[in-house]
Amino acid sequence: MATPPRPFWHTLLPDGKPVAVNDLADDESCRRVGVLVIGCGLTGASAAYHLSQKLGSEVLVVDARDLADGATGRNGGHQWAEVAESGDEVGARHARIEAADITAVEAFVNTLNETERSPLELHRTGGVHFSMDEKEAPSYQSAVQGSSRERHEEYLIQRAGDDKMIIFGGCRHVATDEGEPFSHEGEPEEQVTEALVKGLERIFPDACFRVCHAWTGLMCFTQDGRPLVGPLQESAGQFVALGFGGHGMVRTFTCGRAISSLVLQAREGTKKSSISPEDTEILDFFAVDRVSGAPTCSSSTND
Ligand SMILES: Cc1cc2nc3c(=O)[nH]c(=O)nc-3n(C[C@H](O)[C@H](O)[C@H](O)COP(=O)(O)OP(=O)(O)OC[C@H]3O[C@@H](n4cnc5c(N)ncnc54)[C@H](O)[C@@H]3O)c2cc1C
Repeated sequence: MATPPRPFWHTLLPDGKPVAVNDLADDESCRRVGVLVIGCGLTGASAAYHLSQKLGSEVLVVDARDLADGATGRNGGHQWAEVAESGDEVGARHARIEAADITAVEAFVNTLNETERSPLELHRTGGVHFSMDEKEAPSYQSAVQGSSRERHEEYLIQRAGDDKMIIFGGCRHVATDEGEPFSHEGEPEEQVTEALVKGLERIFPDACFRVCHAWTGLMCFTQDGRPLVGPLQESAGQFVALGFGGHGMVRTFTCGRAISSLVLQAREGTKKSSISPEDTEILDFFAVDRVSGAPTCSSSTND
């Protein structure tokens, strides 16, 4: 398989490339392993972090690639809680879970910054979500009026700091494989990049833009737009968290935490009541067994 194009975020890493997570496991850590976390994107990293608070070095993380080399390292990098997706209780639960995730990530970053030497950056900045596909206009109207459906969407995020960069993504509707499922990242399609730049020029007719980085990534969607988080059917002791769509930055941290609660409960035999109300809300709303044909132990967690 061809090497996928390097995303902008990887260029910010100390060596310009992600950490080879599998190299961190030596023979000793493999012998001690009590819980194995497969996949080290946001979800796996969060699960491993929360588990290691209780189990220390019994937790081992492995990945088919490197640290944050999947969707996590290739995304738009913004936390955007959905508030207008639908006006009903389902929309309200999404909004509650996503807003709580943002708060939890902020607290986590603050805690790390108090203890670690290299500070993490988390900026509250501005951005816009909109559609450049005119056919989508009615769906925007219905979203505001309370009924929701999957739609094309562009997003524009102003980066904080002096680099004058904008993260701009979307325009899937002009891609040649639009609507087709695909399983690995490819080169960015020229017509998608061109459509994005034209869109920027339409919004800011007096500004001049240069494309510094263009990259692609895979998103994993479920039919109802809710991730699957919980035990694998008929596989005691195995759990999944996947299907975060374009909202991983506002779901994965707390979903990884909820999985860690389940794992600890399974290991320690504690009662369900030992799982916090926040994690219970996640595990109920994103329950794996709500869909038929839910993943079994042969499925992967890949986007
Ligand atoms: C282009 C793009 C833009 C996005 N923009 C945003 C955004 O701005 N805001 C937002 O909230 N969300 C965004 N998302 C979505 C977000 O990035 C994802 O929802 C989130 O990163 C999912 O995290 P994850 O840990 O579940 O998956 P991943 O980050 O994909 O991690 C899964 C890991 O599992 C590994 N793996 C898979 N199968 C195996 C296996 N069999 N054995 C070992 N390892 C395996 C993979 O190598 C990978 O590292 C975007 C996604 C894309 C692609």
